[in-house]
Amino acid sequence: MTLLYKADPVRGQRWQALFAELAPELEIRLWPDVGDPADIRFLSAWTLEPGLIESLPNLEVLFSIGAGVDQLDLTQVPSQVTLVRLVEDNLAASMAEYVAMSVLALHRFLPDYLDSQAARTWQPIREVSPRERRVGIMGLGQMGKAALAALQPFHFSLRGWSRSARTIDGVETFAGESGLSAFLAGTDILVCLLPLTDETRGILDARLFAQLPEGAQLVHAGRGGHLNPADLITALDTGTLSRAIVDVTPVEPLPQDDPLWSHPRIIITPHAAAATDAEGAGRALIANIRRNLRGEKMVGEVNRERGY
Ligand code: NAP
Repeated sequence: MTLLYKADPVRGQRWQALFAELAPELEIRLWPDVGDPADIRFLSAWTLEPGLIESLPNLEVLFSIGAGVDQLDLTQVPSQVTLVRLVEDNLAASMAEYVAMSVLALHRFLPDYLDSQAARTWQPIREVSPRERRVGIMGLGQMGKAALAALQPFHFSLRGWSRSARTIDGVETFAGESGLSAFLAGTDILVCLLPLTDETRGILDARLFAQLPEGAQLVHAGRGGHLNPADLITALDTGTLSRAIVDVTPVEPLPQDDPLWSHPRIIITPHAAAATDAEGAGRALIANIRRNLRGEKMVGEVNRERGY
């Protein structure tokens, strides 16, 4: 059984060693050393080279290296090839840390205190009870659920929004287009953990910001394509929003002259909320290939119609 790997070569070498140790029955080849293309049944890639898929006549499964598949041109992937995204516990745990850090920083006015420090001003701000702080998570998948679990011990008033109706203990949930306005109207700190699809592209725009309570705050760790940066800046300048922590931007790396860098109410992190851990991802991949070989459903199979 042969897997072709086409992404960061350093990780490729680590995976070769990991496969040799944990799954010697699986051969892993590092692109561009494809060997006989007819051997390749599995492909693990971040992006696709034009013509690569067509050159693999027996390809059955394409594994995305990341939690999403939005970086792949799905029109290049024939419908008989199963598409699988990365689902891995470390990734969700890392995202949960990032969201907890960001929400607590905003809740406890850390950016305001950094501003005060820069001005050498001793200016305590009255605390808000976490029960009165409504934190709303957009996207209740692996990332959203892990983030909610990390926030739960702080007793925030938690709410979540997803495409289909979900029930999560201690969380008020909303679903679909029809549930979005009510979700937003009661959200003081909005956290975006959506996948990027045709439906969610550009969702963080002026129309959405206007539905939040005045002065709401944003934590964006979904994908850059969700965000309209000009609308974010306007919302911050006009007080519609008061602060934003932004991990992902439409262009990455964010160009040096981009106004997001210097906005006084924006904190930028460089797509660092949750990085793929090579060892954990390798183990998850091996487990998924073995599921496939046993004829079982794999974890993270993508529904091509929904786009995630
Ligand atoms: P997932 O398990 O597939 O969950 C996606 C969630 O979003 C589901 O709850 C889904 O609703 C909801 N959703 C999808 N389309 C929607 C729509 N049109 N309206 C409302 N809700 C919608 O994905 P995940 O593993 O949690 O990952 C989510 C995203 O996090 C990734 O796609 C990526 O964009 C981002 N991410 C970022 C980083 C980073 O470092 N910044 C790292 C990892 C992941 P249903 O529950 O109804 O299906």
